Amino acid sequence: MKKLKASARITVIRGGRLLDAARRRADAADILVDGDTIRAVGPAGMKAPAGATVVDARGMFLHPGLVNAHTHGHGNLGKGMGDRWTLELLLTAGPWLAGHRTTQDKYLGTLIGAAEMALKGCTACYDLSFEFPTPSVEGMNAAAQAYRDVGIRAVVAPMVADYSFYEAIPGLMEMLPPALQKDVERFRLAPYQTTLANIRRVLRGWKGDRDQVRAAVAPTIPHHCSDEFLAGCGTLAREFGVGLHSHVAESKVQVIAGLRRYGTTLAAHMDELGLVGPDFTVAHGVWLDDDDMKRLGDKGASVAHNPGSNMRLGSGLADMRGMLERKVNVGIGTDGANCSDNLNMYEAMRLASLASKAQGPDCGRWIGTDEALRAATEGSARALGFGDRIGRIAPGWKADIVFLDLGHVNWIPLNDPVNQLVHTEDGNAVHSVMVGGRMIVENRRLLTVVASRLARDAEEARARLVRLNRDNRKLCDRLARIVGTYCPGLAKTPLHIHRYGASRPF
Ligand SMILES: [Zn+2]
Repeated sequence: MKKLKASARITVIRGGRLLDAARRRADAADILVDGDTIRAVGPAGMKAPAGATVVDARGMFLHPGLVNAHTHGHGNLGKGMGDRWTLELLLTAGPWLAGHRTTQDKYLGTLIGAAEMALKGCTACYDLSFEFPTPSVEGMNAAAQAYRDVGIRAVVAPMVADYSFYEAIPGLMEMLPPALQKDVERFRLAPYQTTLANIRRVLRGWKGDRDQVRAAVAPTIPHHCSDEFLAGCGTLAREFGVGLHSHVAESKVQVIAGLRRYGTTLAAHMDELGLVGPDFTVAHGVWLDDDDMKRLGDKGASVAHNPGSNMRLGSGLADMRGMLERKVNVGIGTDGANCSDNLNMYEAMRLASLASKAQGPDCGRWIGTDEALRAATEGSARALGFGDRIGRIAPGWKADIVFLDLGHVNWIPLNDPVNQLVHTEDGNAVHSVMVGGRMIVENRRLLTVVASRLARDAEEARARLVRLNRDNRKLCDRLARIVGTYCPGLAKTPLHIHRYGASRPF
């Protein structure tokens, strides 16, 4: 594939086989790109203005850039650090995995993930950054800059809370011996007023092209936040017109914590606080009940479905079919590299399909490859708030296009482009990636970041963080022994006991 002639604005992509998901075809087509936007899609040989840059896409299969509805930039420096972890053990390990990070580390971690996504055909993501004990303008700007430097789009939201994990899980603090209770005091978070003021500072000072990188608000887990804090997050999101994203009903322990604290589900409680609407995204939603799904669907909210993470952490299998039936907008995400190991959206699509099929032989409830693909493109795009401009290759939409090499063994032979894109492709056939009309990956090479420098910087950061987090690791190991027995025990109890209160006679 080569560029024949340089031109300032107009590009014509000639002869690629363009995905037509509705008709399950991939016929040769030309795409005219003006600046960052697709102007026309037509038959091969379509007329183009003189002087247009020509991209020869013969032998390529073209599909819209995949959109990762849920990930964590900070997770990339923690890749491979755990194995047999539940969500609660992952949260216990948080200070070890993400402690002592400098602003440069935040940039670097995000850059690694952005590079991986670009190389694996993903052109936009929703990133919840580790910003404890309270978010900083510098940290958020560093994350945003990493996405700009790699050249993919992102919504970046600081994860915030005002209760620590030990304060948020019912009965957990009492299980800790007094010495450990004292130790976990160091994980106390900033008062919610301080954190709301800092989020406001981030949102007010947000710079740059909002079609490339936007900010959002992420009260990380509802019961890790006071009601005043949650309501304040909702007010800020509305005031600045940005998204709201929260890990809701990810694990059974979370559901129990919600029932104990609120007497309702987490989603119902967030709805009572006025947080559920079209700009609201639930991450995971494994344990949403029928009413929760209906509530989200009726209010136009989204779920970021992360099947890989849900399996990896033993959280369960989310009911994507149930969500779609109740008109919930479903996007697909990978979650962070510290809990689901890679940011490969092809794998996430495949797992979304397989997770539905693993739930039983009622094939009417299975997720089809067309549905998985739609969720990973248009569904995720809508969750990001980019629903009217990315996720399709069509006139008026941003030119975010992935070029797969049809000579790769994944595509030999090409029978059904939708089935093969979701079930066969694993990222290895990604040849080139265009975002907003600009090539950021060409011939399997990332053009925007020097890989050798990235590796060197990452190794330096890794070695330093291992040293600095030695004490955190020891403390986390001691805490894990208690969390690792207490939380699974809590999860074994039936939900109705918690709904009506453990002391109430039945
Ligand atoms: Zn997450």
